[in-house]
Amino acid sequence: MAQDSSKDVPLKVLVAGGGIGGLVAALGLRQQGHDVIVFERTDLAKEFGAAIHIGPNGHGILKNLGIFPEELGANQFEKFADYDAQGELKNLMDLLSLDVWPHKWVGCHRVALHEKLKEKAIALEGPGIPVTLKTSSIVVDVDPESATVVLEDGSKYTGDIVLGADGVSSNTRKIVVGPEIKPRGSGKSLFRFMIPREAIQKNPRIAHFAQYNGCMTSWHGEVCRLVMYPCVNNTLMNFGAIHPSYMSPAKGEGWDQEASKEKLLEVFGAFGPQVKEMLDLVDSSTLKVWSLLDMERIPRWYKGRLALLGDAAHPFMPYQGQGACVAMEDAASIVALLPRGTSKDDILERLALYQSIRDERAHRIQASTRNSGQDLGEEEKRQVDCEILQRSSKNISETVPVQEFRSAVPHVWN
Ligand SMILES: Cc1cc2nc3c(=O)[nH]c(=O)nc-3n(C[C@H](O)[C@H](O)[C@H](O)COP(=O)(O)OP(=O)(O)OC[C@H]3O[C@@H](n4cnc5c(N)ncnc54)[C@H](O)[C@@H]3O)c2cc1C
Repeated sequence: MAQDSSKDVPLKVLVAGGGIGGLVAALGLRQQGHDVIVFERTDLAKEFGAAIHIGPNGHGILKNLGIFPEELGANQFEKFADYDAQGELKNLMDLLSLDVWPHKWVGCHRVALHEKLKEKAIALEGPGIPVTLKTSSIVVDVDPESATVVLEDGSKYTGDIVLGADGVSSNTRKIVVGPEIKPRGSGKSLFRFMIPREAIQKNPRIAHFAQYNGCMTSWHGEVCRLVMYPCVNNTLMNFGAIHPSYMSPAKGEGWDQEASKEKLLEVFGAFGPQVKEMLDLVDSSTLKVWSLLDMERIPRWYKGRLALLGDAAHPFMPYQGQGACVAMEDAASIVALLPRGTSKDDILERLALYQSIRDERAHRIQASTRNSGQDLGEEEKRQVDCEILQRSSKNISETVPVQEFRSAVPHVWN
């Protein structure tokens, strides 16, 4: 792989999608000295989303890009509490004593992280050329051979490489692997909402559910599962209420399908009175329902000069909260593979390497999250989240296998 420093010209990188994965890639590539344009479908004026997990893998990548989640109100996970559906505590674990991860596992508000990534990517100060962010720009087609992006309004942009970071309903995926591989309903849906921690703590019957800082808490029913964890400096509780899709009205694929409190309480009707009292605190206007999508393994990650990353390559079930972190791993791998001085002629070879680095790991974590979502028998249910934790700790404590590129791009990795 030749690196001709006399031709030290930046690569022109076009990114379809300005979500978490696209912006991590854009920021990292900017810091490598490349010239990056991000095309984002929305106007990003009303970014939404609840909390996301930032596991040690994602956390390390963000820190190396100069983003410190704790400064955005992210809080560390310190404990893990497991209740049955009636609200009886079955297990309480101290996560701080695990001491297996090189970086902290934290909960962060998605909007705060997204805003920070955007701000840092386009800032005039900082290393490299500020990223150009083109909002309200829908990528409808890409020519992978010439690295040309076509927008809905007909305009065309040609670069040296295109990254397809356009999320679960990706257009660019169709170009890489064909239209047959597409996300399908997993049979499970998720109500998501936030409740101020104070509102739970104020009620003496349910205050114990929110007594600990940084506590990942779950309640297990027969076919429904409720998960709660804090974000915004432990002041806001993020909920995911997982249930069979036939029980709720989620129709579309988006993150923002409207839902009602009545439906939430009906679906979780078999849960204990204290759990339902807590659910009753939800503000209906913030309640959303989202159909959890799954997808078969893609046979390739790139075609010509177009490479996929994040949910476009591997939509994740949210049971281990790894969607954003694996998207960040993909992005960091691309960044590491394209240091300043990479020639346009090297790109195809680097993308082949990218695929070989990412394919096994991303799909192994994907399979692991899929298994975590299975409905289980009573005995297994009691053990379930401890096992998930063990598996997660194994998955997320491993080093992203790009050691050989660390020395080339120390500011990303060290
Ligand atoms: C609005 C929103 C809210 C979310 N809320 C949560 C949450 O509460 N909890 C959670 O765990 N995860 C949430 N996620 C998902 C989570 O961010 C992703 O699963 C994960 O970060 C992987 O990132 P990604 O960049 O691959 O995909 P995403 O973060 O989904 O980003 C994809 C981006 O591509 C854009 N896009 C799509 N199609 C096109 C196109 N044709 N042209 C240009 N741009 C396009 C989208 O608008 C989006 O900004 C949310 C995602 C979005 C978009």
